[in-house]
Amino acid sequence: MGFLQTAPQLPHPWRSERLLHALLDRALPAARRAALEADLDALGDYALMAWQRAAVSTRCKPVLTQWDAWGRRVDRIELTTAWQEGPHITTRHAVLAAGHEHHEHARLEEFTRVYLYHVASEFYTCPLAMTDGAATALKASGNHALIERALPHFLSRDAATFWLSGQWMTETHGGSDVGNTETVARQDADGQWRLHGRKWFSSAVVGEAALALARPEGAGHGSGALALFYVETMDGAQRKPELVIDRLKDKLGTQELPTAEIHLDGLPAWPLGELANGVRQVAPMLNVTRTWNAVCAVASMARAIALARDYAERRQAFGRPLVEQPLHAQTLADMQAEFEGAFALAFEVAQLLGRVEHGSAAPHEAALLRLLTPLAKLWTGKLAVRLCSEALECFGGQGYIEDTGLPQLLRDAQVYAIWEGTTNVLSLDALRALAGDGPGALRTAVAAWLQGGDPHAAFAIDAALDAAASHLDAPSTDRATLEAGARGLALTLARSAAAALLARQAAWAQARGDTRPTAALRRFLGHGLLRLADIGMDDTSLLLG
Ligand SMILES: Cc1cc2nc3c(=O)[nH]c(=O)nc-3n(C[C@H](O)[C@H](O)[C@H](O)COP(=O)(O)OP(=O)(O)OC[C@H]3O[C@@H](n4cnc5c(N)ncnc54)[C@H](O)[C@@H]3O)c2cc1C
Repeated sequence: MGFLQTAPQLPHPWRSERLLHALLDRALPAARRAALEADLDALGDYALMAWQRAAVSTRCKPVLTQWDAWGRRVDRIELTTAWQEGPHITTRHAVLAAGHEHHEHARLEEFTRVYLYHVASEFYTCPLAMTDGAATALKASGNHALIERALPHFLSRDAATFWLSGQWMTETHGGSDVGNTETVARQDADGQWRLHGRKWFSSAVVGEAALALARPEGAGHGSGALALFYVETMDGAQRKPELVIDRLKDKLGTQELPTAEIHLDGLPAWPLGELANGVRQVAPMLNVTRTWNAVCAVASMARAIALARDYAERRQAFGRPLVEQPLHAQTLADMQAEFEGAFALAFEVAQLLGRVEHGSAAPHEAALLRLLTPLAKLWTGKLAVRLCSEALECFGGQGYIEDTGLPQLLRDAQVYAIWEGTTNVLSLDALRALAGDGPGALRTAVAAWLQGGDPHAAFAIDAALDAAASHLDAPSTDRATLEAGARGLALTLARSAAAALLARQAAWAQARGDTRPTAALRRFLGHGLLRLADIGMDDTSLLLG
């Protein structure tokens, strides 16, 4: 047999994770930091084991069996091994429970675990995100009966009592525009609300509960008339007959995640609060799931880059390892710099969320969180696709071969930009945040992050923020032009915030003798911060038929 290339090896996802170590060293009190070590090491062990297991296993997808041999409707879903392990890993490592502890670092400690667990979980993190979001929305609702009923399950540290919650919003007529929701809530003579309708994407269909948007019978049109309901899906070990799984979707990626089309045929439901403004009530859930999305997107980038870097040392071309080829090293370094910016922004949002929820945030930080959440979600979602695509190319032809496990990274990454609000929808959401205290909050935060840092970086970031402000405040800008440029504006602000966070990290690391974050900052700035649309870019006449 001729030459055989050795496969890429995944470094230990926790022990080799330089950025996460540095973040926790900087952000956490020493005792809290030390207390996490064993748990994070064990999660890293699990992630490594899952990668090695996948390399020697045949990939499976969930299977829906709708009828049993005797004609009974059963809607049973068989799950992959990683999914069967999901409740045990989640509760053993307190992935969700950690985020709801009563201290300002709770969310950072939660999302550190999410980051380590995500890729190994095979997107079990999707329903976990929704469960976390449901717990947060329930708390915000102040509905004590539902809080007492559901939260002990959602935040359980025992797999036997742990429940997953779905988020049933998207319908055939409305995903981004939930105002088109057709599901109706009707009240029985005995006062029980029941949901009737069809939900087009349900990713936590194996869960025990869900928060669902529905229109109370007789309420008006539009999104303001929608109400938010809590439902339970199981009657003991049996799925409730009023919840029918029509089919599992055949998807580009996230194939281990059973995403279903479902019918609600009188499913009992309980309103979280008033019988209107359900979209407002679900907002705390969306803020949490968007933060999960950003952290999971950077986790996918980390995985792709770790494998590409390892391979660059194993693979020889033209007489030397790829990593010694100047252009290949340049390619990897460019990827690493973008990833470090995305990592910094995603985890800043996680930390801000913790501080705002705990009540220890600075006065400007609630508005900052409101702005950075959509920015982090939309930018990291797009970047994950780009970096995973680049990482596949780093393996040459092997990057295109299914049983290397590499193409899955790219197919999975595509979802980050779509669910929990598409890039455009979140760019428009960022515009709304910018109409409030967002711009001032961002300026205040950036000034603090840049204190004592690289003056060249400060100059470039201030210039980008000035350009974004002129774009936003131009007196001639009408609403259509503003919307047309919203994506460029959002990306510019996301990159500017990320650069300022990299500058803070670079200053901190440099004082400890580590110059790598400074190199990442310079390279990130070299890629440019501005993504604003040019004058005339709102002319879409080329689309006319
Ligand atoms: C794998 C997967 C799992 C999912 N799981 C769930 C789930 O569990 N629960 C759930 O509720 N949903 C779920 N979704 C649905 C997802 O949230 C929606 O698909 C998404 O919000 C987009 O909605 P839509 O599909 O209706 O697209 P549309 O709203 O029709 O959007 C189509 C395009 O139009 C653009 N667009 C829309 N409005 C505007 C505007 N005003 N300006 C500019 N551009 C605009 C969008 O950016 C997009 O590119 C899932 C989706 C996927 C892919």
